[in-house]
Amino acid sequence: MARPQQRLAANVDGPFYVDRTCIDCGTCWQFDPAHFAPTGSTSHVWSQPEGEGETRAALLAQQACPVAAIGTTRELLAQSQADGFPTLVSSLPPGEVHYCGWASRKSFGASSWLITRRRADGRHDNVLIDSPRWSGALARRIEALGGVSRILLSHRDDVADHGAWAQRFGAERWIHAADAEAAPQAEHRVEGLEPLVLDDDLVVLPVPGHTAGSVAVLFAAQVLFSGDHLWWGVDPPGVVASRRYCWWNWQEQVRSVERLLDLDVRWLLPGHGRWHNFAPGEWRRELEATLARVRQDRGGEP
Ligand code: SF4
Repeated sequence: MARPQQRLAANVDGPFYVDRTCIDCGTCWQFDPAHFAPTGSTSHVWSQPEGEGETRAALLAQQACPVAAIGTTRELLAQSQADGFPTLVSSLPPGEVHYCGWASRKSFGASSWLITRRRADGRHDNVLIDSPRWSGALARRIEALGGVSRILLSHRDDVADHGAWAQRFGAERWIHAADAEAAPQAEHRVEGLEPLVLDDDLVVLPVPGHTAGSVAVLFAAQVLFSGDHLWWGVDPPGVVASRRYCWWNWQEQVRSVERLLDLDVRWLLPGHGRWHNFAPGEWRRELEATLARVRQDRGGEP
């Protein structure tokens, strides 16, 4: 629970604040950049919400924070909605994509995502990408959306509470063999570098580099869940492949980026960093610019 006496000086005056327990995971400013921003080693409230919609967004950021470092008044907290997450990101012909919120400290606040879709026979066949922290409120909301039949784990760092989610929904889990020690109970292994086609609209793409067993997940040929392989940077804007946060093999990570050039991604939804909506054809131009930067060995940062 955030404490007013630990309120950071960087916060602007007003009811919402970040306190000293912030671990600088980025969840709040990725979700609600209109009110939260990074300071360097923590985050802070740079603008207080005004009106119902903005207050709701700030309260959801408070709920998503993995370490409860965001505080506000009791009156505003009482307006927090247990069914706020998952929030809709995009509707596509084969289904919908949602952000799960409820980030976990175990995955350093990584984002997790839910694909909701139905099969031809009307049965729900939803997919969880990485794991939010366990929350009964979130589980009830996901159940109302049709539950979870599969959990796809992008890499070893973002498995969080996968066991609790798998048990709650009877879901089967996939993780790459090279990262499988992080989730040895997972029912399925992805092997090698070949794409694994799970369904016509769902493909697992091995992208080793950040870790040996990193994978991305492609949904509907246009939504790329990228784990920590790639994300969107804002200053300056561009796709980021980060050498600084490459834990295993940078050259392999660059080769993994190259293998994604022929996609036409419209949504980049990462574990960490901002997500981004691309115009048709923009993905290849952006990724070529990223590769030009990393080949000059400038660290992979735009
Ligand atoms: S979500 Fe919480 S821990 Fe993460 S940056 Fe924001 S205040 Fe800090």
